[in-house]
Amino acid sequence: MSGSSSSQPRALITGITGQDGLYLAELLLAKGYEVHGIVRGQNNPRRELVTELVPDVHLHNGDLTDMSSLMRALSVSQPDEVYNLGAISFVAYSWENAALTSDVTGKGVLTMLEALRLHAGDDLGRVRFYQASSSEMFGKVQETPQRETTLLWPRSPYGVSKVFGHYMTINYRESYGMHASSGILFNHESPRRGEEFVTRKVAKTVAKIHLGLADELVLGNLDARRDWGYAGDYVEAMWLMLQQDEPDDYVIATGVSHSIRDLVTIAFDQVGVTDWEKYVRQDPKFLRPAEVDTLVGDASKAKQVLGWEPKVDFEQLVRMMVDADISALRDGWK
Ligand code: NDP
Repeated sequence: MSGSSSSQPRALITGITGQDGLYLAELLLAKGYEVHGIVRGQNNPRRELVTELVPDVHLHNGDLTDMSSLMRALSVSQPDEVYNLGAISFVAYSWENAALTSDVTGKGVLTMLEALRLHAGDDLGRVRFYQASSSEMFGKVQETPQRETTLLWPRSPYGVSKVFGHYMTINYRESYGMHASSGILFNHESPRRGEEFVTRKVAKTVAKIHLGLADELVLGNLDARRDWGYAGDYVEAMWLMLQQDEPDDYVIATGVSHSIRDLVTIAFDQVGVTDWEKYVRQDPKFLRPAEVDTLVGDASKAKQVLGWEPKVDFEQLVRMMVDADISALRDGWK
């Protein structure tokens, strides 16, 4: 664990209420950390979820657009490690709310870095920083598979904002000597994935169809391909990055791409349906204004330097998600 002044290391997580924040909090608590999280909004319904799933986490009010709230959280928590996972993270939403996405997902990174710089004072290396960069930065791909050196060509307000945050992180590292690392994470999913994302939408709708609660799954481009991994594996990579002597950037991916069609086929197979076409309707409203190309990552640097490899494969992931949604829906009936 990185440079802790006391025996128990401390971490501060933005985006604690999100998919990755919850898995990361569980991981760090299991490793013996004192974990702090920033929650946005005066009445955030997901605060309850955090206290239910990770009750030992200390929560602080704050927002990535409000530097004084970040400084307050840093001052109270005195972290050794800061994980900046907070973002407006849904690409489709970022098209409808481009300015807000830029403020939170882009400029919010600068606000966090600057808060951290002011907080750390003369000893900038004492707090390690992780930035949640994204494969969406590759957008119009210039090389396959994509690696740390691949030219970035984002294709959405979300992607552009992530590029800003990514280069700000690199600049704070190079200019101020901060221990600031960026994980270029390819898509990662889990039963905790937001329902607006296609994997969870498929898993939950298939679970509903199986239980007789729905009769149709409406999707956009069935041929879009992504490199999908399991969120539980990916948060481990975030932690490993901050345990290195030198900060750096790493692609985190499975190296295998699958289509939405593959996702749908496995999800329906999990509930014993092979002729799934009769349930699926395509609607152009779910197509992106500018689709990204096939994204597939080369995580060989992470394997070599961090010793990181994914453990859960795509098929296991999809089956896990469908089963979890069936259980959750059945629990709701109790
Ligand atoms: P989620 O969408 O599940 O979580 C996003 C988090 O950001 C939520 O906790 C949300 O809080 C918080 N947030 C939103 N706006 C603000 C704000 N103004 N100030 C502070 N916090 C805010 O994302 P994931 O957990 O899936 O992803 C974590 C990070 O990794 C994100 O930055 C995402 O962009 C990035 N990433 C994710 C990938 C993936 O496949 N999952 C791939 C690559 C990168 P709330 O909604 O409670 O207000």
